[in-house]
Amino acid sequence: MKNETNTTGEYIGRGIGISSGIAIGPVYIINQHGVPVPEYEIPADEVEKELKRLSGAVTKTQRQLSQLKMKAETLPTGAEDIVLLLEAYKGMLSSSRLMRGVEDLVRQQHVNAEAAIQRQINSIKASFAAMGDDYLAARAADVSEVGVRLIRNLLQQHYNPFADIPEGSILLAEEITPADTALMNPHHVLGFATALGGAEGHTAIMARALGLPAVSGIAGLQDINRPTAATLQHYRQELSKKQREDRKLKSLRDTPSITADGTPIVLQANLELPRDVEAAMESGAAGIGLLRTEFLFMNRPDLPSEDEQFDVLKKLVQKLDGKPLTVRTLDVGGEKLATALGDAVGESVNPALGLRAIRLGLKEPKLLDTQLAAILRASAYGPVRILIPMVSSVSQMKQVREHLMHVERRLQRRGVRLSTMPPLGAMIEIPAAALAADALARVCDFFAIGSNDLTQYTLAIDRGDDRVADLYDPFHPAVLRLIQFTAAAAWRANISVSLCGEIAGDRRSVALLLGLGLRELSMAPVRLPAVKHEIRQLSMPQVVAFTECIMSKSDSVEIKELMVAGVAGLDEATREKYKR
Ligand code: PEP
Ligand code: MG
Repeated sequence: MKNETNTTGEYIGRGIGISSGIAIGPVYIINQHGVPVPEYEIPADEVEKELKRLSGAVTKTQRQLSQLKMKAETLPTGAEDIVLLLEAYKGMLSSSRLMRGVEDLVRQQHVNAEAAIQRQINSIKASFAAMGDDYLAARAADVSEVGVRLIRNLLQQHYNPFADIPEGSILLAEEITPADTALMNPHHVLGFATALGGAEGHTAIMARALGLPAVSGIAGLQDINRPTAATLQHYRQELSKKQREDRKLKSLRDTPSITADGTPIVLQANLELPRDVEAAMESGAAGIGLLRTEFLFMNRPDLPSEDEQFDVLKKLVQKLDGKPLTVRTLDVGGEKLATALGDAVGESVNPALGLRAIRLGLKEPKLLDTQLAAILRASAYGPVRILIPMVSSVSQMKQVREHLMHVERRLQRRGVRLSTMPPLGAMIEIPAAALAADALARVCDFFAIGSNDLTQYTLAIDRGDDRVADLYDPFHPAVLRLIQFTAAAAWRANISVSLCGEIAGDRRSVALLLGLGLRELSMAPVRLPAVKHEIRQLSMPQVVAFTECIMSKSDSVEIKELMVAGVAGLDEATREKYKR
């Protein structure tokens, strides 16, 4: 992926452009320290469980340190010390005075792990300070660094590191999580760059949703330095060019989304946060094709009640003023963790394959039923659809429908105002679901294809890992065939099908997606005008020729070349050959 974002530095680094755009401004380095540490007593019979929790956090911290070390190793020069230091940090997590002391405190004094670490940091610092030696003082800082990392991972909780950011800053941070991104004030932040994180993780999606230029996976973040006057001048010009183009695209807001030869295409918006609804309406979206409800669970220690969820959803439905709202039930697990669900989700060796999304909902029925009740209640105020993430089998959808009926009966007994039952759909984002789309279509009212996860699971590529980001390819023939098969199954069953993964918002994918049978796309609001512009240039025979040409290729490299060339790149002979 091209690195499209220039932050402020002459040295841009080798990062992955996760959200395109240009931002010019002063950098603000995020301090990852300063975590408030809770202290409580562990019951005697839960000590082993606490030690297991500690060991989970140790494994996670070691993994992060290994990733940072690999990053440092790619730096051109001068990073040898950092590599050694990170190796030493990892060592401190296996057998050290710090870890022995922490385990003793948990085992013998029943102190919770976070507090045990803090106490042990304090005690090591005090004893080193008493020796009055500069070298040891520096080692105490290292112990503190490792300890605080561990505490952050134990808490799985994000203090607001963005509270004091001066307006107009570009953030530099080791890592920014999706929950962190939700805390950012897009009016204060112009963009960000991080050392860790892949192109298709939720931080990237959030950045695109907020319209913030961002680069991740940069080695040597701290080396970014002042740009020269010539560089600045160049990017100022590029920025005003882009602003002019954006203004032009915005004027398409009320023009119909229709191909040059008259096929209507429904363009909807994805919402990460309720505040994005204004942008969605301004973009001219026909509705919300995907509301990710994870925001309701982020950055808080407890779970949202039915009333709280209902209030948020009702307001959204009202703001949409008759346009449909597709509410996806909670999709935590994997990289998106909610603090209050830590115990239910637990530690998983392969979080993306573990207890997440609807798997968690069906194991924790109260969680699912509370959300279904809130959605049903909100549906009395306008059109709503219910979307279930990570579906892999027909029986899961049947179970969800039973939950839905049960919740509806319960609400009726409570005398709650309801309207007709909203349509119930499945995200098709696991290869098994795509291959079983015919059977699933019989138990679903609609499909939404999640091409982000579909790519991740088909190609076995962690979408949040920058080290394998070059292998993440939503245009791999295998992924395309699954999308085509799913769309065809939906058409055969006469149910609607949309695609709401990130490729829906990439104007270069539009011709192919239409050719694969899609007539509904859902994307970040900022992407919508450019996609509409593209649709209005295309004609269906062109789209079919282009798609058939792509689907005849088995090599991703050839497909990429065709995608870059686009419909206009097809020669006359190919057009004729594929013309029906
Ligand atoms: C997807 O997987 O394509 C999708 C839309 O869901 P998410 O990105 O939230 O996993
Ligand atoms: Mg998904």
